[in-house]
Amino acid sequence: MDLFLTDRVAVVMAASKGLGAATARVFAQEGARVVISARHQDALRDTADSIARDTGATVLPVVADSSRAEDIAHLIQTACARFGTVDALVVNAGGPPSGRFTDFDDAAWQAAIDLTLMSAVRAAREAYAVMRERKSGSITFITSVGVKHTLDNLLLSNSLRLAVVGLAKTLSREFGPDNVRVNVICPGYTATDRILSLAQANAARNGTTVEDELAKVGANVPLGRVADPLEFGRACVFLASPAASYITGAALMVDGGMSRIV
Ligand code: NAP
Repeated sequence: MDLFLTDRVAVVMAASKGLGAATARVFAQEGARVVISARHQDALRDTADSIARDTGATVLPVVADSSRAEDIAHLIQTACARFGTVDALVVNAGGPPSGRFTDFDDAAWQAAIDLTLMSAVRAAREAYAVMRERKSGSITFITSVGVKHTLDNLLLSNSLRLAVVGLAKTLSREFGPDNVRVNVICPGYTATDRILSLAQANAARNGTTVEDELAKVGANVPLGRVADPLEFGRACVFLASPAASYITGAALMVDGGMSRIV
């Protein structure tokens, strides 16, 4: 199937590794020109070089903290200055800290709001200004299976990612007449560094192997395993691509069947 991405411009936030990097890699494989962001320059540049080398695509790294309004504005402006537009924006950031209700004061909540909710608001604002002019574009927010399947000890994530779902659903209605699609994609357990380091710590504590610990996590998933990041990346790129031209306001679970809610 043609995803109609040749020479399109894709911006993937928080993409020096993990889900963002996998998504950027698939965009590049599909012939898009790709802009990736993250906070740490060296790792970001290495990822851009690796994707460009492997795919032959043009990959532009732009240092940007997803929780800072000025960095997001700079990211979209840089993409437009270099490539003329943004066709697909994938909004991502690191996860907010884990913990329970009594662990967080107002400052912790505010930081998480900037990271998880306001990154989505600000990125959508910047991208929509470009896309509405061209009457074309897609905005995809990376959230979590936690929006349908509440995860213990992840209060900030459970709370704020649902706000992003509400934002996306509302924007899909407001932006639809401009042919700008807005969707949410919800990863389940995926073998990124985040999950692998957790598995390493558990393996050291339990006297097992990383594979044993990943297998334990996978045992709670109907497909019986955690995902490879590229499995997430392929779903995300499809949703963001013109091949999904009649899909907006959707929440796509990429969770191996973990959520019991349709
Ligand atoms: P990861 O492997 O740790 O990668 C995180 C990426 O985001 C890195 O490139 C990191 O680079 C960047 N980043 C972190 N904070 C940032 C910020 N404030 N601004 C810009 N870039 C930032 O994480 P992941 O597993 O891919 O997770 C990505 C998102 O999906 C997180 O929100 C996570 O909670 C969520 N999620 C993951 C899973 C999973 O199983 N992996 C499941 C559900 C939801 P820098 O450090 O250089 O900025």
